[in-house]
Amino acid sequence: MGRIDVRNLRKVFSTGDGDLVAVDDLDFTIEDGEFLVLVGPSGCGKSTTLRCIAGLERPTSGEIILDGEDVTHAKPKDRNMAMVFQSYALYPHMTARENMSFGLKMTTDMPDEEIDERVREVAEMTGIEANLDQKPGELSGGQQQRVALGRAIVRDPEVFLMDEPLSNLDAKLRSEMRTELQNLQHDFGVTTIYVTHDQTEAMTMGDRIAILNDGELQQIGTPLECYHTPANEFVAGFIGSPS
Ligand code: ADP
Ligand code: MG
Repeated sequence: MGRIDVRNLRKVFSTGDGDLVAVDDLDFTIEDGEFLVLVGPSGCGKSTTLRCIAGLERPTSGEIILDGEDVTHAKPKDRNMAMVFQSYALYPHMTARENMSFGLKMTTDMPDEEIDERVREVAEMTGIEANLDQKPGELSGGQQQRVALGRAIVRDPEVFLMDEPLSNLDAKLRSEMRTELQNLQHDFGVTTIYVTHDQTEAMTMGDRIAILNDGELQQIGTPLECYHTPANEFVAGFIGSPS
């Protein structure tokens, strides 16, 4: 389970200079188990779209449907989705173990021993079992991102939402983590929406990619479809240009 329909999603922000249309009439479906990359230049509405899907932002109009159920107005914790951010957003005063178990302790009645066991299992998968007693400040960027990823995985969500999760890492680590992320996603078969402004990342990672510009969906398709039959000049230029 984990199919998402985004229907006519629109988000308008009121600013000092008037209304700003961040996302305009977005309409697409993510199939269960699919890895969809949402890609486009800075400011085109990627994060806003993801935040609306996660329930962190209220759409101006339109619907978010999860497995046939309208969750547009459901609280984030009632959506069974886990979000991973660019800035990791770890709690600085907690150890890696505490960061990973906090959500389970707050939102489930799972016994502590079971939570500990689950955290150990996931830490092994994400390669941070040796770092469980360290705090974020004692960890490298890559290790922190693994903790953030582990924190998302322990909750066993139906959907992963990732907002530029690798953009704070150096190029070598980024390419290693890309592969690891894909392996993890394949192993779990969790529906994933991955946001990036990086064309290379989109082309290499996505089962399909959704290309956004100025709040509007330009094309959605496999990387090869978008590459060989771009829907318009924007897509052709964007995919063709180096990131
Ligand atoms: P991206 O993630 O693709 O860089 P965003 O979704 O963050 O783009 O932003 C899309 C547009 O909406 C931008 O013009 C941005 O300035 C604007 N925006 C985003 N969040 C807010 C907000 N809370 N208030 C006002 N404008 C916002
Ligand atoms: Mg963004």
